[in-house]
Amino acid sequence: MIASSWWPVIAMSKPKVFVSFPVLPSVRALFEARAQACFNETQRVLTSSELLAAVADCDAVFVTATDRIDAALIAALPASVRFLGTYSVGFDHIDLAAAQQRGIAVLYTPDVLTDAVAETAMLLMLGAMRRATESIDLLRSRRWQGWTPVQLPGKQLTRKRLGVFGMGRIGRAIATRARAFGMEIHYHNTRRLPPELELGAQFHATVENFLSHSQVLLLACPLNAQTQYFLNAARIAQLPQAAVVVNIARGVVIDDDALIPALQSGRIAAAGLDVFSNEPNIDPRYYALPNAFILPHIGSSTLEAREAMACVLLDGVEALRSGVPASNRLI
Ligand code: NAP
Repeated sequence: MIASSWWPVIAMSKPKVFVSFPVLPSVRALFEARAQACFNETQRVLTSSELLAAVADCDAVFVTATDRIDAALIAALPASVRFLGTYSVGFDHIDLAAAQQRGIAVLYTPDVLTDAVAETAMLLMLGAMRRATESIDLLRSRRWQGWTPVQLPGKQLTRKRLGVFGMGRIGRAIATRARAFGMEIHYHNTRRLPPELELGAQFHATVENFLSHSQVLLLACPLNAQTQYFLNAARIAQLPQAAVVVNIARGVVIDDDALIPALQSGRIAAAGLDVFSNEPNIDPRYYALPNAFILPHIGSSTLEAREAMACVLLDGVEALRSGVPASNRLI
C-alpha cells in the first residue's frame, strides 16, 4: 500500500531545470508546467560564474546559442546536472567532448524549427533579389516619385540555379520551397543524399563545381572547423558574376572582408543575411550597403517554433529520466 502510493510520486516528479535565456510568456508557462523551472531574469547573457551559481541542485540546464558552454564550465557543473539542453539546433557553442567526458547528456531542438528557418531563408532570398532594402528606404524616406517601369529592377527567383551548401533538414526544406518558385536545385554536402531526400537536386562532389553553378548561394551548413570562413575571396571568385549570397547558417561561415567589397563592387549582386560575425556588433559596413538585406538573427523566431523547441527539450529530459532514448539527444 505504501509502495503503491510512493512510486507514482517519484515517477512524476518534475525535473529541476535552469533556463539561461529570456523566454516568451507561453514558453515560460510550458517550462513551469513540466519542470521546477528557474529562469535567468536579467535579460542578458550570464557569465560562466553566474550560470554556475544559478544551477546548483538542478537536474538540467537549458542554454542557447549565445551561451558559451566550454570545457571549463562543463567541468565545474554540479554533479546533480545530468542533462544539458540547447534551445537551438546549432551546437557549435557547446564542447560536446567535455560533456561526454562528464557523462552529461546533451539535447537540442532539430526539426521543430526547420519550417520557421526555411521561411526566413525565402524572405532573405526574396528581399535580396527584389531589392527590399532600397525599396523600403525609398518609401520611408518619402523620396518616392511614383511608379515607373524603370524603378528598382530586381532579379527573379524563377529559373535561377539555387546552390544549397548544407542540404540537411533546413537546406532541404528551403529546396522544397525554392522548387515551388521555379528554381533549379544544386547542392554540396560532404556526402551525397539518397534519391528520396535529393528529390532531383543535382549533387556536386567538389566545392568548385558547386559554386560555379550557384547563381544563388544558400549557406545552410552547421558551423564547424571546415565551414568557418567558408565563403572567402577565393570562393567568391568561383561564383557566377552577380551571384546572390544568402546566409541562414552562422555569421562566421562568411569572411566579411571578402563579401563586403564584393557587394560594393557588384561582383556579388546582393546578399540576404540573418546571421553575422560578432553579433550583435556586426560589421558596420553592412548598414551602408543598399544591396544587403539584413535581419537580426530571426531565423527560427516564430511563436510556433519557440513553443515546440521548449517541448522537445522537456520531452528529451523526461524520456532520459525514464530510461527511454530521446530522439533529440546529441550525445
Ligand atoms: P543538419 O540537418 O545537420 O544539416 C546540416 C547539413 O550540412 C548536412 O546535410 C550536412 O551534410 C551538411 N554539412 C556539414 N558539414 C559540411 C561541410 N563541411 N561541407 C558541406 N556540407 C556540410 O542541420 P540543420 O537542422 O539543417 O541546421 C543547419 C544549421 O542551420 C545549424 O547548424 C545552425 O547553425 C543553422 N541555424 C540557423 C538558424 C537561424 O536562426 N539563422 C536557426 C536554426 C539553425 P553532411 O554531413 O553529409 O556533409
